[in-house]
Amino acid sequence: MKIGILGGGQLARMMALAGIPLGMEFIFLDPATDACAASLGEHLHGDYNDPKLLAELVKRADVVTYEFENVPAATAEFLAKHTLVFPSAEALAVAQDRWIEKNFLSHLAIPTPAYAAVNSFIELTELMPSFGYPAMLKSRTQGYDGKGQSVLQTEHDLANAWQTLKGVPAIVEAFIPFDREVSIIAARNRSHDIVFYPLSENYHRKGMLRTAQCLPCDPLQAQAEELVSRVLNALNYVGVLALEFFVVDNQLIANEFAPRVHNSGHWTIEGAQISQFENHLRAIADLPLGATTPVGFSAMINFIGAVPDIKQILTIPNAHLHSYDKKPRKGRKIAHACVHVCTADALQQGVEKLQALADITDKS
Ligand code: AMP
Repeated sequence: MKIGILGGGQLARMMALAGIPLGMEFIFLDPATDACAASLGEHLHGDYNDPKLLAELVKRADVVTYEFENVPAATAEFLAKHTLVFPSAEALAVAQDRWIEKNFLSHLAIPTPAYAAVNSFIELTELMPSFGYPAMLKSRTQGYDGKGQSVLQTEHDLANAWQTLKGVPAIVEAFIPFDREVSIIAARNRSHDIVFYPLSENYHRKGMLRTAQCLPCDPLQAQAEELVSRVLNALNYVGVLALEFFVVDNQLIANEFAPRVHNSGHWTIEGAQISQFENHLRAIADLPLGATTPVGFSAMINFIGAVPDIKQILTIPNAHLHSYDKKPRKGRKIAHACVHVCTADALQQGVEKLQALADITDKS
């Protein structure tokens, strides 16, 4: 079976690494000449809306998926008319617009921060006295890894924040003073079976995920599973989906969902019986889903901008390095490492080893 992927970055690369042992082949559409997944399959090089390349993808791939939610929704809609596309173009359209996404979650009675749409600076200044501070201003579309968002502490922040967004349609969200951030990753296949991974606890730095750690027995697991099931079933979803939450007083408040494999689930490569990447492929290829059971303690750290000395990382027993073969650049995710410990004191050892990795990263 040949899998077409819109995007040829690290998520596509990790999907291919999981799918090749299943006998799958891969074809990536990506405008970058140096797309890091390209060495694992064929590379259609060009724009996501190039009709010739889309026709080629339809001809060559048995099923098409995507690795990020900012591919044009029109591309997914076009492809869906000619071939199988999972997750659906509808799921993509909901996830790529924060306003539509928040309305969708609210309609499913999933708690979200209070929010409002703003289309101009005047609308923003009129809204804020009643909406209240602190708040977040976020672009409705094209935002990821903390890009396109600013904190609004007082009315003095409004002009700068609006200028940073360059006038694109936006939403204002209440700032949530969260105790922690968690995400649940789930997979639903074409036969509507659903599996859930244990929650991940996620730490961000400057809006970007820095570490994620698996929480095998979190008391919020059942609540998170119930909420993510509502999203999966409402969209008749096929594939892996990640739903991110703020936790306040042991209550889950949804931030956003990603209709794809997710950075907070990279620990599943070593840390779960079947990884999120393989389960995504199984789901879209109409195969039975695999066990999500965690194996010991796992935690992941992202290397952003540069990778510390490989030798130093590998002096930490149980550290697995995943390099994405991407050129180092400021703010770019170029590798991650996962610590994976199965001994009786797995949690303590794992946390210590994650800290050792974080120290190496901070010093380099
Ligand atoms: P996002 O791009 O919406 O996932 O935001 C990136 C990160 O910014 C989140 O993981 C949080 O750490 C922080 N953040 C986003 N929205 C809020 C909010 N409404 N309240 C508090 N922190 C937020």
